[in-house]
Amino acid sequence: MIPRSRVPLYDHSWQWHLRNAFRTAGDLIDALGLPPDTVAVDSEFPLLATRPFVARMEQGNPRDPLLLQILPQARESDEVAGYTGDPLDERSHAEGAGIIHKYHGRVLLVTTGACAVNCRYCFRRHFPYDEARLTTRQWDFMLDYIRRDSAIREVILSGGDPLIMTDDQLSELVHGLESLDQLTHLRIHTRLPVVLPQRVTSGLLELFAGSRLKVIVVIHTNHSRELDDQVASGLGRLAAAGALLLNQSVLLKDVNNNADALCELSWQLSMAGVVPYYLHMLDKVAGAAHFEVSRTGALRLIDEVRDRMPGYLVPRLVSEIPGHPAKQEIR
Ligand SMILES: *Cc1c(COP(=O)(O)O)cnc(C)c1O
Ligand code: SF4
Repeated sequence: MIPRSRVPLYDHSWQWHLRNAFRTAGDLIDALGLPPDTVAVDSEFPLLATRPFVARMEQGNPRDPLLLQILPQARESDEVAGYTGDPLDERSHAEGAGIIHKYHGRVLLVTTGACAVNCRYCFRRHFPYDEARLTTRQWDFMLDYIRRDSAIREVILSGGDPLIMTDDQLSELVHGLESLDQLTHLRIHTRLPVVLPQRVTSGLLELFAGSRLKVIVVIHTNHSRELDDQVASGLGRLAAAGALLLNQSVLLKDVNNNADALCELSWQLSMAGVVPYYLHMLDKVAGAAHFEVSRTGALRLIDEVRDRMPGYLVPRLVSEIPGHPAKQEIR
């Protein structure tokens, strides 16, 4: 059973929720009634978490799997061998104007640096967003770039979180892409339908339903408790607007590194109409080493999941290796 949300869905607009998200550990610790000795530190990658997401955390539990994803910890400043600022070598694939073109036929656009939550394990936590952000000035450059490579059929909007853009901004972008005949697929990688279900507005649904492009929305959920009735209802409306819904997770120590958690996530995603797509190995980004799950551990886990689940609910375990022509499927 998907739990009911503890905050009303239509209390405020999604923009209000962005403005009024939690930004300090002190406020979050108060709101959750956490032990006052809960250690949280200042970080250059600041704490950021929406109220609907925080409402799904368990009161008084410093080990809550949702909390651990967003609470800055002292261990983040440990220097760990192999963990760097740009683990995917994205800077060398940045073609300018926020374009990252690593894989055949698909091009990724960094539309904004902003997110509604700051995930501590995020591989882009050190990415130079200000240089990468898409501006109107760079718009023509991007369309030209796509025209020059007729193999490109799919545009992936990423970030940051592309749904931080307003419906009007997004609509301008999508209409521009629709004008390129070669494009057939539009993919949107976003955590907003999960951390801020209010973002699924009627404007967004109309944009998707009216597009000639096949829309794929890849949400990002790591634990079944991130899903509640409001999230499920937003996802249902996205599916009704014609979007294919996929999920990607990151395998994170103390958050979801056990077979029960992974299986339950798959079942709940499925109930919400979402197909588990990828389970990513952690990218080795500086500050995230405390989330590491070993390769052997990951293989053992995914085998256990495969033994227990219908095949369509087993995500592909992948890791991203700089220089490879695709994400590498481990199993
Ligand atoms: C992950 C990723 C893609 C999409 O890969 P799929 O395997 O098609 O999901 C495309 N471009 C970049 C830069 C990526 O990191
Ligand atoms: S890009 Fe995704 S994983 Fe990274 S902070 Fe934003 S929502 Fe979290």
